[in-house]
Amino acid sequence: MTVRVRFAPSPTGFVHIGSLRTALYNYLFAKKMGGKYILRIEDTDRTRLVEGAIENMIEALKWAGIEHDEGAMLRDGKIVEEGEFGPYTQSERLDIYTKYIDELLEKGHAYHCFCSKERLDQVREEQRAAGTTPGYDGKCRDISIEEAKKRIEAGEEYVIRLRLPENKNITFNDVVRGSVTVNTADLDDQVLIKTDGFPTYHFAVVVDDHLMGITHVIRGEEWIISTPKHVYLYEAFGWEAPKYVHLPNILNSERKKLSKRHGDVAAKDFKAKGYLPEGLVNYLALVGWSPEDNQELFTMEELIEKFSLERVSKSGGVFDKDKLNWVNSHY
Ligand code: GLU
Repeated sequence: MTVRVRFAPSPTGFVHIGSLRTALYNYLFAKKMGGKYILRIEDTDRTRLVEGAIENMIEALKWAGIEHDEGAMLRDGKIVEEGEFGPYTQSERLDIYTKYIDELLEKGHAYHCFCSKERLDQVREEQRAAGTTPGYDGKCRDISIEEAKKRIEAGEEYVIRLRLPENKNITFNDVVRGSVTVNTADLDDQVLIKTDGFPTYHFAVVVDDHLMGITHVIRGEEWIISTPKHVYLYEAFGWEAPKYVHLPNILNSERKKLSKRHGDVAAKDFKAKGYLPEGLVNYLALVGWSPEDNQELFTMEELIEKFSLERVSKSGGVFDKDKLNWVNSHY
């Protein structure tokens, strides 16, 4: 099996050093295993797009020496086709998502939902008042495809939701966290296609990871709560799920998630301050991963040689500016 991994940023801002580290671990693992590292732009949330974010992202990755094998590529300020299947930009793949949502609808694993925002807000309000976990109450679950078609033709707005079974355990094995089990009773009928016709992240990520032959999904731990929904989608399609590797967050000195409030977090800030890409990459590799010996200075080639998912730490790595400066001073 050839390892295929991807870094799948959403162009909603500038590249944070946490995302740069995620890209780096994907890259190191792919190169170590003789596999492929794919770049995919996840731009289906049209309300959160930030102008210039894609270009910034590709430039930051290039500066850091993390170059993809397939996917979006920037040339003369434009994303152009690259590699056998490129470019991978989700907003250009809407026909693909339509094909697969139709398959789910036909199999009965998805349904059209015509509930208005006002109704959903009211339901949530009532659930909160009653002390139950807020979630979709399933009002539209029994609407047939034929009835839905008529209502759509009549101009009603709709979304398409995943039909989760009522009481089913979903289990997956995370390479860092071990076995994770969630019961569908604790999950909502996730929206898969939004009113604007774009897929949600949850739907597009599963379809794309499958079609792009992704073998290992290496991403930030904030996505672990979404993974059971993804695993269920693989099952509904009859596809094999990839292996999951959820990386612990990078923390500040108070052991809280590192954010803009704590100073520089964007890759471009480090570049502007004169940090060398080799120094930043070397340092980031060590925030959340440790080699077998206590080597601290690495070239990219050495990182590739020594990297292993087994040595990714289970707890968050603390960002230490002094250590970064020390590493950087050696380049
Ligand atoms: N688009 C998601 C993000 O920007 C990627 C999550 C994933 O890797 O599945 O965080």
